Amino acid sequence: MQCAKCKFFNDSQSECRRYAPSPAEGDKQAHWPNVASDDWCGEFVAEGEERKVA
Ligand code: SF4
Repeated sequence: MQCAKCKFFNDSQSECRRYAPSPAEGDKQAHWPNVASDDWCGEFVAEGEERKVA
């Protein structure tokens, strides 16, 4: 399980696009969070798969 293999990973910008971008405090521009290709989180969904609903 790694961001690099997650359907929400934007490879060219090294961003997580699981959720809409949000502004940092005091910032007027929204950003997706930067993640490393070997990071991971509990929202991981493999490329080409749908999120399973319990
Ligand atoms: S594993 Fe989590 S942090 Fe990484 S790209 Fe997927 S949803 Fe984003």
